[in-house]
Amino acid sequence: MEAQLNISVLTKLFLVQFLLAFCVAQDFDFFYFVQQWPGSYCDTDQGCCYPSNGKPASDFGIHGLWPTNNDGSYPSNCDSSNPFDISKISDLVSRMEQDWPSLACPSSSGTTFWSHEWEKHGTCSESILDQHGYFKSALDLKDNLDLLQILQSAGIQAGGGSYSLSSIKNAIESAIGSTPWIECNTDGSGNSQLYQIYICVDASASNIIECPVMQTGKCSSSVQFPSF
Ligand code: 5GP
Ligand code: 5GP
Repeated sequence: MEAQLNISVLTKLFLVQFLLAFCVAQDFDFFYFVQQWPGSYCDTDQGCCYPSNGKPASDFGIHGLWPTNNDGSYPSNCDSSNPFDISKISDLVSRMEQDWPSLACPSSSGTTFWSHEWEKHGTCSESILDQHGYFKSALDLKDNLDLLQILQSAGIQAGGGSYSLSSIKNAIESAIGSTPWIECNTDGSGNSQLYQIYICVDASASNIIECPVMQTGKCSSSVQFPSF
């Protein structure tokens, strides 16, 4: 009788542990940290609008920090009960305006873009990073990863010239020890342009890792790097 009781208590304990582990398990494997070149965003047919506080710096800007699975799939819009709340990141807003400007039209302060990124992507890593942690992690990653400087040091300048896709990848790989994924777009005259650079980061959003999976490419072998 006592043995039976012990077994049923043990079974319940095991079940509770299993459920707890299941509920707090992270539902993604790594992050893509994605930065965009404003000159390329603005050169497409859709054009761009500068944010309400003026033309952003001539630098890569953050697009997002995207939880992704090792097989390339990704969760999105994970928690509608946790909407973007700018008061949670008030101490970060001036860094956000500098490093995460929105170039979409109509012109805005950036809150629409940040809110979209939090709701679509950030809510899917909320078991690891709350809103403040999510935005701060992205800003800190950018501070430690000066892509424009890395490219400039390899002779790759944002002046409208074209460079081989492999020279862009190699410059970044030698500087950070991980191969980036490069996304191109097409300008009004049909040129393949350097649009976004994807760097893989571990699930704590603090360490650069080798990418577990790459997206399929849209770049030509020669890529234009427009000025901004
Ligand atoms: P696009 O169609 O421009 O490649 O992607 C549209 C949007 O889908 C991106 O801005 C991003 O929000 C999301 N997305 C595209 N690829 C990935 C990916 O590999 N991982 C994650 N997490 N999101 C992605
Ligand atoms: P995603 O591609 O991340 O799913 O969605 C990007 C959304 O943010 C789009 O609705 C786009 O209009 C908006 N957005 C606002 N500002 C920017 C910007 O500077 N760059 C990009 N790529 N999207 C922006």
